[in-house]
Amino acid sequence: MKAILDHIGIAVEDINAALAFYRDALGLEIEAPEDVASQRVRAHVIPTGESALELLEATAPDSPIARYLNKRGPGIHHITLRVDDIRATLDHLRARGVRLIDDQPRPGAQSALVAFIHPSAAHGVLVELKQAAAARPSLTARRMPLGNLSLVSMYDGFFGLDGGAMFGVVPRTLWARQAPPDDRNRIRLAARPLVVEAEWGRMMIDCGIGDKLDAKHRDIYAVSREQALDDALAAVGLAADGIDLALATHLHFDHFGGATARRGGRLEPRFARARYIIRSAEWEDATHPHERNRASYMADDFVPLKDAGVVDFYDGDRTIRPGVRVVRTGGHCPQHQIVFVESAGKTAVFTADLIPTTAHVRDAWIMGYDLFPMETLAFKKRFIREAIDREYLIFFEHDPLVAAGYIREKDGRRHVDQVL
Ligand SMILES: [Zn+2]
Ligand SMILES: [Zn+2]
Repeated sequence: MKAILDHIGIAVEDINAALAFYRDALGLEIEAPEDVASQRVRAHVIPTGESALELLEATAPDSPIARYLNKRGPGIHHITLRVDDIRATLDHLRARGVRLIDDQPRPGAQSALVAFIHPSAAHGVLVELKQAAAARPSLTARRMPLGNLSLVSMYDGFFGLDGGAMFGVVPRTLWARQAPPDDRNRIRLAARPLVVEAEWGRMMIDCGIGDKLDAKHRDIYAVSREQALDDALAAVGLAADGIDLALATHLHFDHFGGATARRGGRLEPRFARARYIIRSAEWEDATHPHERNRASYMADDFVPLKDAGVVDFYDGDRTIRPGVRVVRTGGHCPQHQIVFVESAGKTAVFTADLIPTTAHVRDAWIMGYDLFPMETLAFKKRFIREAIDREYLIFFEHDPLVAAGYIREKDGRRHVDQVL
């Protein structure tokens, strides 16, 4: 079992006196309070790096916090350990004879599930278990209209990359709250290709990670494909041989690994009827890797396509099919491109590794993987401004929870209004 210290709960008699110390004397920032009705407490969370302090005041005389204060006075009330699966953890503890206060999890603050272990089992400490809402992601395939086109959000499982590498110069204390790392410092990412359906056919933009990675790489990248591309296609009544075109934003394995598959010892195009549309200069880069990008390009993902004669190469920014146009961003890699999908005055943009997750909507939150981060910054600043002003629907290829949404800005702070 794995557990991470989430927060320490402190029972306070007089919240203003407590704030005078924690907020004013220590100078810590305190989040807006949240009432937890089931416990009759008001919680004031104080972020302290990856864990937090939680000041607890009673909101009714029969609150457990009020009873605690009467008995013991103010002080540390409980510690909270965050687990991935709270029901499995409770089963595990029960099977070992651990005395529990809560047999079943119940709703806590921030839509989490919580359950308490009896202090007698934990050597005098009240231990709360918590399963964060974000630890229960699931992938769904959804079809939505965009003018005369249809967009179908796909998935090809989850994987994990080093959190530091995903956020470049941003300190861990900042990104870890947005994207909690695992015990190997990896954050959870999704692979989310997008299908565009139009009169001219069905186009898959990027193809997911695919199933060719060996056990060593699946372990390094924490690949979990219990919910993979075939499931996503089936969920919306599609199949791999119904794809007419496959377009690459770039040829990194987490974007185009799913373009080929091993069948009977042979590598073949994954989409039997599809033409594969690849930018010539990206093909050049992918087939001539250097020390810095070698781990990202795997020849088995794309060379078999050329051997099979199914690749259509092109140069420069262009409209690939009516309503679908590619724009080179550079930055991440020299030929990295994003895809504009436009119909009847509406615009959706598949941003690939320019804005891989919703945490990356801040201009300077740029991946350490990027070969030319200043190029990323220049393009991103301009693009996000435009996306906010013109209400582009943004598709986040690697976000574990949000497939698509609108970037909004209020008082200089950005957030994403989730649509899918
Ligand atoms: Zn990439
Ligand atoms: Zn990527």
